[in-house]
Amino acid sequence: MSESSPWICPACRAAVPRDGAWRPFCSERCKMVDLGAWLLGHYRVAALEADEDDATPEPEPPPDDDDADR
Ligand SMILES: [Zn+2]
Repeated sequence: MSESSPWICPACRAAVPRDGAWRPFCSERCKMVDLGAWLLGHYRVAALEADEDDATPEPEPPPDDDDADR
């Protein structure tokens, strides 16, 4: 029974050598690809959250008060 690789490259699903230099990735390229994708998603989410928070500085007034004034 031969030893199977303990790691599978998250980027390309290839078996990663036990003593691979880029664990858990199979190569430097796959490591950079995965890191880049993660950073893109991370920045996109962070920008959306910041924009949404800045777009609503104060809560809306209750519509019931406007109807009573009229
Ligand atoms: Zn890979």
